[in-house]
Amino acid sequence: MEMNISEMYQTMGIDSDVYTFGEKILSKLEERFKEIDKNAEYNQWKVIRAMQENRVSEACLLGTTGYGYNDIGRDTLEKVYASIFKTEDALVRPQITCGTHALALALMSNLRPGDELLSPVGKPYDTLEEVIGIRESKGSLREYGITYRQVDLLPDGAFDYENIKKAIHDKTKLVTIQRSKGYQTRPTLSVKRIGELIAFIKDIKPDVICMVDNCYGEFVEIIEPSEVGADMVVGSLIKNPGGGLAPIGGYITGTKECVENAAFRLTSPGLGKEVGASLGVMSSFYEGLFLSPTVTAAALKGAIFAANVYEALGFPVVPNSTESRHDIIQAVTLGTPEGVIAFCKGIQAAASVDSYVSPEPWAMPGYDSDVIMAAGAFVSGSSIELSADGPIKPPYAVYFQGGLTFPHAKLGILKTMQAMKEQKLIEIPCIH
Ligand SMILES: *Cc1c(COP(=O)(O)O)cnc(C)c1O
Repeated sequence: MEMNISEMYQTMGIDSDVYTFGEKILSKLEERFKEIDKNAEYNQWKVIRAMQENRVSEACLLGTTGYGYNDIGRDTLEKVYASIFKTEDALVRPQITCGTHALALALMSNLRPGDELLSPVGKPYDTLEEVIGIRESKGSLREYGITYRQVDLLPDGAFDYENIKKAIHDKTKLVTIQRSKGYQTRPTLSVKRIGELIAFIKDIKPDVICMVDNCYGEFVEIIEPSEVGADMVVGSLIKNPGGGLAPIGGYITGTKECVENAAFRLTSPGLGKEVGASLGVMSSFYEGLFLSPTVTAAALKGAIFAANVYEALGFPVVPNSTESRHDIIQAVTLGTPEGVIAFCKGIQAAASVDSYVSPEPWAMPGYDSDVIMAAGAFVSGSSIELSADGPIKPPYAVYFQGGLTFPHAKLGILKTMQAMKEQKLIEIPCIH
């Protein structure tokens, strides 16, 4: 006889209290999920239309070797990205190794000695501290005579316009705006808010380059930061736009000049975009981009489910259970190292790959405390796949993201509850 779904969950180690509590929370989320599906539908259409307009063909899915001259797949994909983001040009390459590399490339190629970089939204993502030279590092922008200035957000999360205005002067060449909160508990910026900030900055200094770190933000809304004035939008293909299929890669999309500068730095002056074989990754870049709107929607639903579950269990969550979403990350403040560890072990136990291993906190390059990371991914380190990580330091928050399908994200969250329950870190409320 076939099992019903609750029995199915029991075979996956989810007891009926945890399952029933999860269902109760889910039953209240129908309207929100509908809204997410609507956005995904719009973005799906945007991607298909861009592929049609740029005449993506079967030949585009093949690759080149060696120098990679006349790589039609690579060149067409860059046009597809430019269409989706409504920019003049784009650089989308497997030679860009990760998000940090894409951001470093965008910065280093568009800044020159004597220029100043400004972050008007507070401290950037951890790994960028070494790129900029906030933490001393070989090859940083600072080593090349590029200075850095930062204006923090106000305590309520608003832009500090007064101090941003004071921080812009004749040397200010590039402004970096991080959309996602990263490892912080500040709110993520909506595209609309990014647009307001860019308008303010351009009003003071029209020729300043505005770059947006778009990591985790792609396809969450129906517009992207390049549609509200950003000169460069940068991200990783092992997050949203790779759709879980891209095995490597990053993108920089923006003005012709910014992208050209980045291309000359990525390959070599004189060569630029003309070289760079795509090997065999093009079909995964195209198919991943095609899937990205619905994959991002699945991850968003997972994040909203997590927020509602953990808020109901009494933990602070950012964003909260009802807030609008501008990236796929869910922060949950568990308050204890044991909580962070149990949560991550639950996520790991839900994986398809490496489900039997147990993650432990460890010192990681680029981070200033031990970090625990749960990721059983098809693409190593991919965080559009179901994953969670947390630094082992107060306030003991865990950052949850991804899930290529909603059922997988749901199983992950139920597994975290089960692990927390078994460690006696939570009690599942009685359902009536
Ligand atoms: C992930 C991320 C990065 C860095 O990307 P990696 O691929 O991990 O190098 C930079 N900024 C933000 C906001 C991110 O989320």
